[in-house]
Amino acid sequence: VGAAARLYTEEDPLVILSSGSLKPAVTNSSSAWLVQFFSSWCGHCIQYSSTWKALARDVKDWQQALSVAVLDCAQEENFDVCKEFSIKFYPTFKYFRAHSPETDRGTIYRGETPSVSLFLSHMFSLSADSGADREIQSVRQLMVNILQNHTKLDWPDHCPPLDPYSSVELLPLLGQRSDHYTAIIVEEPESYVGREVILDLLQYSGVEVKRALSSDRPLLDALKITTFPSVYLLHPNTTHTHLHVQKQLRFFFSSLLRTLPGVQRRLKSGSSSSGGQAGALPDKQSTEPWRDFDRLKVYTADLESALHYLLRVELATHSTLEGEELKVFKDFVTLVAKLYPGGGSVVKLMETLCDWLLSLPLQRIPYQAVLDLVDNKMRISGVFLGAELRWVGCQGSRAGLRGYPCSLWTLFHVLTVQHDATPTALENTGLEGEAAPVLQVMRRYIRTFFGCEECGRHFEEAAAGSLERVQSREQQILWLWEQHNNVNYRLAGSLSDDPLFPKAPWPSPSLCSSCHEEKNGVHVWNQDNVLLFLRQHYGASNLSPKYSL
Ligand code: FAD
Repeated sequence: VGAAARLYTEEDPLVILSSGSLKPAVTNSSSAWLVQFFSSWCGHCIQYSSTWKALARDVKDWQQALSVAVLDCAQEENFDVCKEFSIKFYPTFKYFRAHSPETDRGTIYRGETPSVSLFLSHMFSLSADSGADREIQSVRQLMVNILQNHTKLDWPDHCPPLDPYSSVELLPLLGQRSDHYTAIIVEEPESYVGREVILDLLQYSGVEVKRALSSDRPLLDALKITTFPSVYLLHPNTTHTHLHVQKQLRFFFSSLLRTLPGVQRRLKSGSSSSGGQAGALPDKQSTEPWRDFDRLKVYTADLESALHYLLRVELATHSTLEGEELKVFKDFVTLVAKLYPGGGSVVKLMETLCDWLLSLPLQRIPYQAVLDLVDNKMRISGVFLGAELRWVGCQGSRAGLRGYPCSLWTLFHVLTVQHDATPTALENTGLEGEAAPVLQVMRRYIRTFFGCEECGRHFEEAAAGSLERVQSREQQILWLWEQHNNVNYRLAGSLSDDPLFPKAPWPSPSLCSSCHEEKNGVHVWNQDNVLLFLRQHYGASNLSPKYSL
C-alpha cells in the first residue's frame, strides 16, 4: 500500500479514484473521463507514472471537459471494482463519455486510429524522454478525439465547440462590439493546436476561442492570413488584428490569450487552496493607492517590506529565540547581510544585527532585544529599515492576496542570483561549506518560522526529495525557479490566485520568449536561457529603488 500510495498522490494534478468513487465519478458526469487502471506492483506502471503525471499537468485546465484519473487495482479494496470493469492487464486505459449511464464500463482504447496505435506502441518502450513527449502529445490528441466523438446529446457541459467555423459564421463578427475577445485560430486541417488552445482557455472568462481551416479561402482573403497556425483577434471594442506571437506554438498562443486585459481564470467555487495563506497575510493593502510598476523589474520596496514583515511581525510572535531557532535566525541574518544587493541601510542593519548576534554568548535571546536593534533604538547612523509595508511588484488586486509570500520568494530568488554573482561573499560565515547555502537557509527558515505551515510542509517535502542534488550555484538558481513553478502549477485557480496576476509557468513567453520551446509537441523550457533570464531579472542591476524609502 505504501508504494501504491506514493505512485500517485493528492498533490498530482489528477483524480485518484477507488472502489467507492469510480462509479459516482464517471456515471452521468458533466465531463468525460480518462482513467488509467494500474497496479502498483507492475513495473511498466511505475515507469509510466511520470509520463501520466506530465500528461495530467499538461491538460489540467481541460478537466471540466475531460478529467484524467487513476485507479490502483493492487489495493485490496479495489479488487472487486477492477474485476467488474474487466481489467485484465496493467495498465489498462479506459474512457467514459460524458453523461454515460451507470451500466457503462468504459471503452478500452486500442489501435483504431493512428494516434492510438502510436500511443500503444510507445506505451511499453518508454525509455527516452522524447518517447514520453511523443506519448503525451498522442494521448492529448486522443483526448481531443474522445471529446469530438460525443454527439450533441451527450456533449460535455462545459466543453466549447471544437469543430471549425466557416467564414460565413466568422466574418459577420468583424467590427461587432462585444463583452469579450474572440480569438480565431486558422490552421491546417490536421493540426490540433486550435482545439488544444480552445481547451486550454476553457477555465478563462473574457475570451472565446474558435478555429477555422486553412482551406477557407474567403476567410484567408478577408483576414489576410498566409501562415498557419495564425491567430486573429477581435477586440471587444470592434477593432481586429493579427495576434503577434514570437513562436507559432500552442503554449505561446494560450499564454498570450490568458494575459489579455480583462481575461481571468474563473475561480472554482468552494475551492480551498492548499494553504491557509490568505489568512496569514497582512491586511493593509486595500486602502493603499495603486503603485504602477514594470513586470520586468524587481523592486527594493518589496524586499524591504519582506524584511520588515519578517523581522517585526513574523519573528516577533516568538518571545524568545533559543537552540535551533536561534541558529536558523543567525544564519538567515548572515545570509542577508552578505548577499543583499546594493548595500545601503538594509545591509548596514543586517550587518549590525549579525555582529551583535555573533558577539552574544547567550544560548537564548529575548526577541525584544532584536526589535530594539531593528528599530535602531541605539541610533547607529545609517542603520534603517522602513517600518511599513509598501508592496509594488507584490501588490495584490485586493487585501489578502500576494504581499508577503510574494516578496519572500522574490528575496530568495535575488539571494540565489547574488550568491552566483559574488561566490566568495559567504566565506568565513560557516555557510560556505554547504553546497546550496541559500536554499538550505531558506529551507530552515521556512520550516521554522514561515507562518503558512502547509507551505512549509510542501517546501520541506520538495527539499527533502531533491535538494541534495543541487551542487552548483547555477543549479541553486534553477532549483528555486523550478520549485516556485511547481507551486504555481499547484495553486493555479486556487483561492490564493490573484485574478490580476494569475499563477502560471514563469517567465511567460512575453517576458522571455527564448525560454520556451516545443519538443515533440510538448512544451519544454530552454534552461540555459531561463538561467540567463533569471540572472538578469533578479540581478543587482535590475533592482528598482522606486517607492523605496
Ligand atoms: P508568487 O508565486 O508569490 O511569485 C512572486 C513573483 O515571483 C511573481 O510575481 C513573479 O514575478 C515571480 N515568479 C513567479 N514564478 C517564479 C519562478 N518560478 N521563478 C522565479 N520567479 C518567479 N501558498 C499556498 O497556498 N500553498 C503552498 O503550499 C504554498 N507554498 C509556498 C512556499 C513558499 C516557500 C513560499 C514563499 C510561498 C508559498 N505559498 C504557498 C504562497 C504562494 O506561493 C504565493 O507566494 C502567494 O500565493 C502569492 O502569489 P503571487 O501571485 O504574488 O506570486
